[in-house]
Amino acid sequence: DAAQARYIQRHPVSRDLHEKALKCMPGGNTRSVLHSDPFPICQKRGRENKLWDHDGHQYLDLVGELTAGLYGHSNPRLREVIVSTFDNVGMNLGGTTQEESRLAGLLCERFPNIQQLRFCNSGTEANIYALSIARHITGRRKIIVFEGGYHGGVLSFGHGIGANNVDQDDWVLGTYNDVESATALIKNTPGVAAVVVEAMQGAGGCIPATLEFLHGIQAAAKEAGIIFMLDEVMTSRLYPGGLARKLQVSPDLTTLGKYIGGGMAFGAFGGSEALLSCYDPRVTRSLPHSGTFNNNTLAMSLGFVGLSEIYTSAVNLELNELGDWFRGALQQIAEGTKMVVIGVGAALTVHFLENGKVPTNAHEIEENNLPQLKKLFWFWCLERGFWVTERGMLSLILGTTKEELGEFVGTVKEFAEEY
Ligand code: PLP
Repeated sequence: DAAQARYIQRHPVSRDLHEKALKCMPGGNTRSVLHSDPFPICQKRGRENKLWDHDGHQYLDLVGELTAGLYGHSNPRLREVIVSTFDNVGMNLGGTTQEESRLAGLLCERFPNIQQLRFCNSGTEANIYALSIARHITGRRKIIVFEGGYHGGVLSFGHGIGANNVDQDDWVLGTYNDVESATALIKNTPGVAAVVVEAMQGAGGCIPATLEFLHGIQAAAKEAGIIFMLDEVMTSRLYPGGLARKLQVSPDLTTLGKYIGGGMAFGAFGGSEALLSCYDPRVTRSLPHSGTFNNNTLAMSLGFVGLSEIYTSAVNLELNELGDWFRGALQQIAEGTKMVVIGVGAALTVHFLENGKVPTNAHEIEENNLPQLKKLFWFWCLERGFWVTERGMLSLILGTTKEELGEFVGTVKEFAEEY
């Protein structure tokens, strides 16, 4: 209560802005994930890996827009690209452009399981379009997903509930990291078009998949003649070529999103030429795939420069090594406490769990979750100038230094000692 009282006292402007926003948006915002009680802090400005709120506080941004903000808030090279694209190409040309084929070519080179791809405007859309391929090819409707899986705003399986709004009956829920039940589900469920999985359940709490689980699903899907789809919207930045390459899995379909648009709205889905031909307008009975902003020149140009000049394979490896070090340092503090830190490379989540054990699926988190301690941690970090999410998920922005992370580690240590 004292921490919440201080939060309220320290953010009078955010509270006023929230109250104004409540009049025109349900809950006062337009992304459910950004809501926190008693009200969210309203950000005013970002620069590199720093943020400033409307109440005058500065933060080290450790959220990194939940992996989409890889390049930070003001990358100078991306600024140049925005200006030069605006000046020399223009926005929304209403035709096909070289910018889109250039980015597509680069992504096909970089992701080993993507021979062809198409763009859209979000990871959610990418998953919906990719699933349409699976349904079109197999003529079946059901999709196997895993509890704790998050595949988009309308494709969320966090609490054992099916996707909101869409096709309630078409989802079959499996248990993450349980290879036996997953393979049995794939084998025994009639009418299944695809199985969709994250190689690390990001929104679910940065739970890494075991190799055995992923390889088991891949083999079972192949045997059952269904599509094996890997949602790499969040994980593609965790290794050059994505986690599929790191873990040596070969999904039939892959979805991408987040940072790849260089900070602009972005999504993409890809796979073999044969599967992607579903969206080839020259093929009879092909599926429609439209979207006003699919090939918008800004995302296409920023994406290309971001990947080819900034987030090269070497930089990718370096950032994720830093993330491994960071997670390790936090894990050391967490030992013997109720704090549990998990993740892959530069994406991680700080959990607070009654049993203090590393969770392998959503159930284990839900059964042991300590929301009050989690909230206290959140207040603690914000008050000390570290921008973190209430659910504890962090992702590193390029340019963040070991010293900055070390300061956060120190703050976490103090918290662990106090509570
Ligand atoms: N898939 C995964 C694994 C994600 O983490 C997310 C977003 O967090 C999405 C899909 C949805 O992406 P978007 O928010 O761009 O719709």
